[in-house]
Amino acid sequence: PSRHEISYFGAGPAPLPTPVVEAAGQAFVNFNDSGLGLGEISHRSPTANKILDDTKAHLTALLDIPDNYEILFMQGGGSGEFSAVVQNLVPVWIERRRRRAEADLTRANPDADKSQIDELVFQRLQKEVDGELKLDYLVTGSWSLKASQEAARLLGSKYVNVAVDARKANGGKFGKIPAEDTWSLTPTKGEGGKGSAFVYMCDNETVDGVEFPAFPKALEPQGQDAEDERLVVSDMSSNFISRKVDVSKYAVIFGGAQKNIGVTGITIVIVRKDLLPPQTATPPPALLHRLNIGGLPGPVVLDYATIAKNNSLYNTLPIFNLWVAGKVMGDLMDIFGAQKVGGQEKIADQKAELIYGVLDKYPQVYQVVPDKTVRSRMNICFRVCGGDDAKEKEFIAGAEKRSLQGLKGHRSVGGMRASNYNAVPLENVQKLVKYLEDFASGH
Ligand code: PLP
Repeated sequence: PSRHEISYFGAGPAPLPTPVVEAAGQAFVNFNDSGLGLGEISHRSPTANKILDDTKAHLTALLDIPDNYEILFMQGGGSGEFSAVVQNLVPVWIERRRRRAEADLTRANPDADKSQIDELVFQRLQKEVDGELKLDYLVTGSWSLKASQEAARLLGSKYVNVAVDARKANGGKFGKIPAEDTWSLTPTKGEGGKGSAFVYMCDNETVDGVEFPAFPKALEPQGQDAEDERLVVSDMSSNFISRKVDVSKYAVIFGGAQKNIGVTGITIVIVRKDLLPPQTATPPPALLHRLNIGGLPGPVVLDYATIAKNNSLYNTLPIFNLWVAGKVMGDLMDIFGAQKVGGQEKIADQKAELIYGVLDKYPQVYQVVPDKTVRSRMNICFRVCGGDDAKEKEFIAGAEKRSLQGLKGHRSVGGMRASNYNAVPLENVQKLVKYLEDFASGH
């Protein structure tokens, strides 16, 4: 079949807009009549630099990214960022503490020389790391769970505070986000505590179909003091550029490209500049070695400061993949103009409502997995006839006959999943809705 005959609802890699795929084919063979394809040119060439600048500009415009944020293009996927956020933000916590300890101890010991102060600082830091270092994780689905497990693997589980485990209040399964007043976040200074290194959340849980409806109130900025602030890290791999985001509320936003942005191979990171040198220098590597915290300092290719200093060209960046991401974003800007990502948001909402609408219409046949309040607009997870194996197989087989593909749920949870990313056309959603109607009336 041709691509026009297929309606693809895969969760990632996921469909790309057909005009982008067609232009990418040409760009891979002969980019802008240069005689070379984008997989062949140097990442340090003027052409590559222009692609990098344009992609940053499109993303900045789409999401209204403030000046005090840096955009990084990395590799290693969403999973690489599970490690990277630990590797980059724990040193920020240590460095802030180190500076404070140095100031306090210099004042208290006016006759001590630098090496004596350094030793006192080290001893205090060792105690603080041991007793006070905490990373808060909101575990609302399979991917935030994985991220929390990676933090525990790198640092040790005693440093990981699972502030919410959404399975607990929901019969051992993901599908709800417990009320914020039940979360056990590490208290900030204003709350009588000392705060965590960061709070981690996954904005949209791809496997479980759970999306935060809005930015959590509990994470809103509280005061000016660094110890009053919660540094919020958000994994937006599967809902990137699908709705408006107030970037200023986050320390780090990241996402792999293979859902809404482009092809696998690029990871986008948006990071607040004051978390990078020179505003917050990373602590001396020798100090990190001596503190002996697992995973630190960590691989240089995951070091935000290094990637930022080199304009994402510390090592070879896949320029073809970058171009695809830039093209997707540039086309969105062309389509939506002043509405920016808000224009895309309206369409995503409309498509999701169509699908949930028909699922809710036949509760005997279809059961949406997550709670109504946290239903993902991007990954619509449901069961057929209560999860009856034969009926679910029949559903998939019938869908395949109509060239509706990629509807099987993640292998870890089973059931159905219709992924409704930006590049899924309205008409494909309408075809799915028609099938859902027809299947339901036959049962
Ligand atoms: N985070 C989310 C929300 C995801 O959906 C995925 C993959 O599907 C990942 C992280 C992991 O991404 P990667 O496979 O690029 O490491």
